[in-house]
Amino acid sequence: MKLSFIGNGSAFNIARGNNSAYYLEGNKILILDCGESIFERIIKSNILDKANEVFVAITHLHSDHVGSLPSLIFYNYYKKGIKTHIVSGPPQKDEELSHLLTISGVKGIFNYCDSDLNNSFVNLKSCTFTPVSHTSALTQSYAITLNFSSQKIYYSGDTNDEDYIKKVAQNLKQNDEFYCDTCLADYPGNVHTNIDRLATLVPLEKRQQVYCMHIDDDKILDKIDKYGFHLAKTQTEKQKNQEFGS
Ligand SMILES: [Zn+2]
Ligand SMILES: [Zn+2]
Repeated sequence: MKLSFIGNGSAFNIARGNNSAYYLEGNKILILDCGESIFERIIKSNILDKANEVFVAITHLHSDHVGSLPSLIFYNYYKKGIKTHIVSGPPQKDEELSHLLTISGVKGIFNYCDSDLNNSFVNLKSCTFTPVSHTSALTQSYAITLNFSSQKIYYSGDTNDEDYIKKVAQNLKQNDEFYCDTCLADYPGNVHTNIDRLATLVPLEKRQQVYCMHIDDDKILDKIDKYGFHLAKTQTEKQKNQEFGS
């Protein structure tokens, strides 16, 4: 797994924590999403200790994806003495996020960077946003693509966008990885992607490259296995597995 997961749960899954991942290269870190429970997990796991530059990319404005971003920006500024770089997306996205931060009292202590991440990373070339369907209650939700020189990492954000999933799955090259919103819940108008639906969208030979995230219910784990997908395990889950030798 190219990404390390801080949390991998859906909005109400407090045991797994909000869905959020990061990529660390040297002393630069890029964090994808920063929901309500994420700031606490970041601090407790000392993730920021090695970082002297912090980049954040937000998929959409549901609180399980953006809820503790103000605290992260405050912490970086007042405790680490650095301004957080928010990865810029389409103008309307940046405008809405800026408004949210402004009314949260976060002003002048962060900046926006372009998709090239100020060329700060050696291996990670760019971070781009793709509009995806999720819920009409939000203006727009986005998936994120991390472009490396010979690899692409896809992070769906929250989505029920079958066309997007199908397209990504079909275009996965050998080293690419696809982290996809997956749920057990199945109901008309689902704003996430049901696991059985996901299986119909991803060809068998590509499933080993797909990591299920934003988990709503642990009963899904057997199905993830059965279909040949992976779970996007958190660092804590990985350590536990190592301790128990599995
Ligand atoms: Zn969510
Ligand atoms: Zn959402």
